[in-house]
Amino acid sequence: MNDLLKELSLALGKEQVHTDDLTLIASAADAGCYRKIPKIVLKPQQEKQVIDSLKTLHKTGTPLTFRAAGTSLSGQSISDSVLLQARGHHWSSFEILEEGRLIKAQPGITGTRLNQLLAATGMKFGPDPASINSAMVGGNIANNASGMS
Ligand SMILES: Cc1cc2nc3c(=O)[nH]c(=O)nc-3n(C[C@H](O)[C@H](O)[C@H](O)COP(=O)(O)OP(=O)(O)OC[C@H]3O[C@@H](n4cnc5c(N)ncnc54)[C@H](O)[C@@H]3O)c2cc1C
Repeated sequence: MNDLLKELSLALGKEQVHTDDLTLIASAADAGCYRKIPKIVLKPQQEKQVIDSLKTLHKTGTPLTFRAAGTSLSGQSISDSVLLQARGHHWSSFEILEEGRLIKAQPGITGTRLNQLLAATGMKFGPDPASINSAMVGGNIANNASGMS
C-alpha cells in the first residue's frame, strides 16, 4: 500500500491523492444503501493524471472505480479499493458544435448545466434523470441514465 501511494503521488502529485478519514468516509456511500470505505481517493485534475493512475493501478492489479456526483442507487460509485473522482471545475469544460446538435463535454459537468449551456440553441441533453441537478455526464453515460422522457 505504501509503495502504491508513493507511485500514485509521483504520478498525480501528492495533493490529488487522499487517504484522510474525512475524505474516505465522505466517499463511502452513494445514494444507495451500501457502504464501502475506499482505501484511496484520487482527485486528478487532468486527463494525463487519469491515464497515469490507470497505468499505476493496472501494474499492481488494484481495482479502480470512477465517481462523478455519487447519486447512483445501487453502489455503482463506491469501492473498498481506489475511487477516482473526475468532477469539479477541472472536469467541466465543454464545446457546443453544429448549432447545438452536438456538445462535447467533460464528465464532471451536470445535466442541468449542459441544458443551460444549450438553451440558446433550443436543444437539450438527452438523459433526464430526476437527479439531473446533481448527476454528471460521466455518471449519466456510464449508468445509461434516463428519466421521465
Ligand atoms: C433522487 C434520485 C433520483 C434519480 N433519478 C433517476 C432517474 O430518473 N433516472 C435514472 O436513470 N437514474 C436516476 N437516479 C440515479 C442516478 O442519479 C443516475 O444514474 C445518474 O446518472 C448518476 O450520475 P452520477 O454523476 O451521480 O454518477 P455516479 O453515481 O458518481 O457514477 C455512476 C456510474 O458512472 C461511473 N462513472 C462516473 N464517472 C465516470 C467517468 N468519468 N468515466 C467512467 N465512468 C464513470 C461510476 O463508476 C458509476 O459506475 C436517481 C438518483 C437519485 C438519488
